Amino acid sequence: MNNIFQRHCHSNLPIAVKGDGIYLYDKLGKAYLDASGGAAVSCLGHSHPDVRAALHRQIDQLAYAHTGFFNTDNALELAEKLTQAAPGNLNHVYFVSGGSEAIESALKLARQYFVEKGESQRTQFVSRKQSYHGNTLGALAVGGNELRRAPFAPLLMPTEHISACFAYHNKLESESYFDYGQRTANELETRLLEMGPDTVIAFIAEPVVGATAGAVTAEEGYFKRIREICDQYGVLLILDEVMCGMGRTGTLFAHEQEDIHADIVTIAKGLGAGYQPIGAMIATSEIHNTISQGSGFFQHGHTYMGHATAMAGSLAVLNAFEKEALLPRVQEAGDILQTRLSERFTDHPFVGDIRGRGLFRAVELIADKDTKRPFSTASNLHTQIKERAMDLGLICYPMSGTIDGKNGHHILLAPPFIISNTQIDELTEKLFESVDSVTQSLFK
Ligand code: PLP
Repeated sequence: MNNIFQRHCHSNLPIAVKGDGIYLYDKLGKAYLDASGGAAVSCLGHSHPDVRAALHRQIDQLAYAHTGFFNTDNALELAEKLTQAAPGNLNHVYFVSGGSEAIESALKLARQYFVEKGESQRTQFVSRKQSYHGNTLGALAVGGNELRRAPFAPLLMPTEHISACFAYHNKLESESYFDYGQRTANELETRLLEMGPDTVIAFIAEPVVGATAGAVTAEEGYFKRIREICDQYGVLLILDEVMCGMGRTGTLFAHEQEDIHADIVTIAKGLGAGYQPIGAMIATSEIHNTISQGSGFFQHGHTYMGHATAMAGSLAVLNAFEKEALLPRVQEAGDILQTRLSERFTDHPFVGDIRGRGLFRAVELIADKDTKRPFSTASNLHTQIKERAMDLGLICYPMSGTIDGKNGHHILLAPPFIISNTQIDELTEKLFESVDSVTQSLFK
C-alpha cells in the first residue's frame, strides 16, 4: 500500500505534475486527455488564466477568514449570482467544502425546518435506487449504491429507495416514454402512502443521474409529477446537482430543463472547477425564514465554509462561463459528442446505449444487445477499460453497476466545456480503441 490512502490503494498510479487546457501531464511528460474532468469536476480545464489570477490575488490578500466573524465580498457576490440564476425561490446559499458536506447540510436543514414548524414526527427520507449522494453517513443513507452502503447499513438513518427513471432498462414496450415516466414517478406516491406521508422529510434525487447509472435523464413530465406529489404530501424536494449542475448539461442548473422548482439544491464539483474544494446548498426563503424566525440558528457548520480563496476561485469560474459563453457551447459540443459517439459505437456488439445531456454523456456496455443483459459486475471490465484508456492517454470514468445487477457497466464522460471539435474526435477514437480492445480480448 502507498504511504497515503490513494483511491483503491493503488500504488502504481502515474504522478500528475501539470495541467494545461483539457490535458493532464505525468512526471514522465505523458499527456492525458481529461474526458471526465476527474469526476465531472474540471469544467474549465486545468489552467484557466482568469481563475488562476483570481486565486493568486486572493491568497496574496487574504487566504481565510472564519465565517463566524467575517463575510467576504466574493462570497456575497457568488451567493448573489447563484440565487439570481436559480429557478424559483432558491434565495439563500450555504457554502461548504464539497458534495457530501452539501448533502449533509441539506438533509439536516430539511429536518430542522420541520422541527421548527412543529412537525418533528417527520424522520425519514425517500431517494432512488440508482443514485449516489456522497460517502458520509447521511449521504450514504440516501444513496442507492448497495455496495457502498453494505458495511455501514446498521448505522444509516431510515430511508426508502424507489426506482430511478431509467427507460433504457425499465420501460415496457407497450407504454410510451411519457407514461413510463409517470408510472415511475407515481412510485413515490405509493411509497409515501405506505410509510405515512407525514413521517417523511424529503425526497432527494439527481436531475440527471451521474456515477451510478451513467448520465441518465428522466423522461419528460417525470419531475413535474414528482413535484406535484411532494406538494400534495408536504414533503420537501431536494435536488442533488453536485455532479450534473453548474453548466454540465448546458444550463447552469440541470433542473432548469425540467421546468420545476426545488426546495433545496446541492452543488459542488463544477462550482470550483477543481481549482479549490467547494460545495453549496441553496434553500428557499420559506425554509430559511422558518428557521431564522424560529430558533434563529441552523444547527450545523464546518470550519472551511465560505473559505475566502474558494469563493474567489468559484466567482472567477462563474464569470468565465459568462465571458466565454460556455453554456451554449456545452449544448453544441454535447450534441457533437453524442453524434461522434453514435457514429463510432452504435454498431459495436457490446454497446447498448449512448446517452446524456450537454457534456454529460455515457456509453453503456452490455453482454447481449437483444436482451440488454449486462456483463457480470464481477468481470472487472471497467478497471481494464480505465487502464487501457490511461495507456492510450485518455482519462474516462468507467463504472460497474451494483443495483439489481441491472446497469452493468458504463463509461461516464464529462469533458471540460472548452473542449474543441478536434479534441472530441480524439476523445472518441481513443475511447473506441480502449473499449474495443478490452471487449475483444475478454469476450471473443
Ligand atoms: N452527489 C453526487 C450526485 C455526486 O456525484 C457526488 C460525488 O461524486 C456527491 C454527491 C459527493 O460529493 P463529494 O465527493 O464532493 O463529497
